[in-house]
Amino acid sequence: MKTKEHMKIRFWKILILILIVLNAFFWLSFFSYLSKFNSSVTYLSVGQGDSELISTFGGHVLIDAGPNASILEPLAKALPFYEKTIDVFVLSNQDKDHYGGLLEILKRYKVRSVMMAGVINFDESFKMVKDEIIKQQIPVFWAAQGAEIYFSDNRKIKFIYPNKGMFSENKSTNDLSVVLDYQTPTGNFLFTGDIGFKIEDMLMSVVSQAKYIALKVAHHGSKYASSSIFLNVINPAYAIIEVGKNSYGHPDPGTISRLEAIGSQIFRTDQNGNIVFSETKNQSWKINQSF
Ligand SMILES: [Zn+2]
Repeated sequence: MKTKEHMKIRFWKILILILIVLNAFFWLSFFSYLSKFNSSVTYLSVGQGDSELISTFGGHVLIDAGPNASILEPLAKALPFYEKTIDVFVLSNQDKDHYGGLLEILKRYKVRSVMMAGVINFDESFKMVKDEIIKQQIPVFWAAQGAEIYFSDNRKIKFIYPNKGMFSENKSTNDLSVVLDYQTPTGNFLFTGDIGFKIEDMLMSVVSQAKYIALKVAHHGSKYASSSIFLNVINPAYAIIEVGKNSYGHPDPGTISRLEAIGSQIFRTDQNGNIVFSETKNQSWKINQSF
């Protein structure tokens, strides 16, 4: 009788222990699930090309798709494991180093809308991307000055260049790159595609009032972009150069010197891997390299 009683107590002790462990496991999973919802900006390491992911409570916006399918791995890691939807895909430039991985993304993710500017690219590989967008009946919008994407948590993306109706049929894509400004309560993130000095001059007055946390350095650190005067106006705490092995001399040492001169902390995707800015509870940004 005594032994039976003893076993009963032991049974309850074990059961309670199991429940405590399960409970702890549940809350740990719950908090890690919630932490995935933190607002973040990720500069994806895709080789010589561009790709950035903006994630908030309101959704995911992917800017550019890198040069090829190499984007799939970092993108899958940057998104929560269950997430297979990209709310908006913005193509900043119709060169292959910006759209090259898009066809693979369209096959694996549900892309709810696409935004691009007025360059007509007749390349066969770009036509395949366009055909897939048409096949899936994905709505395409102008990525032009005046367009805005509002998130449900008091943040927005403002498109500041090019102007609607600006068109190019001669594939001069760089100076029609889409420029967008992600505005958060703690500061802004500027994405400049592959623009050069001329467009920077045009945008000076538009960007002069904001406080910039980070700048995606234009055109992979080209010597024909990121003028001293433009960098002084933006004055970002961090500068991210998205670059891989290339024959263009990207990034140019002069551009790096100009960034150093304004005191920006420089990150390079070829040296630092994926760069993740995660918003913390006390309204600052934590930066992680690679993952
Ligand atoms: Zn480019």
